[in-house]
Amino acid sequence: MNCIFCKIVNNDIPSYTIYEDEIVKVFLDVNPDSNGHMLIIPRQHVLDITEIESDAWNHILNITKNMKSLLEEKLKIDGLTLIQNNGMVQEVKHFHLHLKPYYKERQNLLPIEDIYNKLKEH
Ligand code: 5GP
Ligand code: ZN
Repeated sequence: MNCIFCKIVNNDIPSYTIYEDEIVKVFLDVNPDSNGHMLIIPRQHVLDITEIESDAWNHILNITKNMKSLLEEKLKIDGLTLIQNNGMVQEVKHFHLHLKPYYKERQNLLPIEDIYNKLKEH
């Protein structure tokens, strides 16, 4: 199957991966709306909210909470918007949840590599 996110799961296409386990992968969006814009995807190829199983969705919820804490700690975000597109508004046909940080002060978009390094530093 010619799915770009399956290729990311299999490391056939590189990504700035923030977290991964046996169920999900979390990586930075290549075309971010704001600094720290990331995507959470199930490793298994499912299309959308109709196809995702409750266990995977629940796991994604827990990982979202962890990522929110990470963004607060490392990038000092002031808010976080979750978006999950379906149907005609879904460009990539592999389920994904967008985590889009919000900042009180206007921020210039930094190179993704810089954001990755900030999120990964101890
Ligand atoms: P949607 O399908 O919800 O409209 O959005 C798909 C998102 O995936 C977009 O925000 C786009 O920037 C992101 N995206 C598309 N291709 C790639 C890719 O190859 N790598 C990464 N990291 N993000 C991608
Ligand atoms: Zn896929």
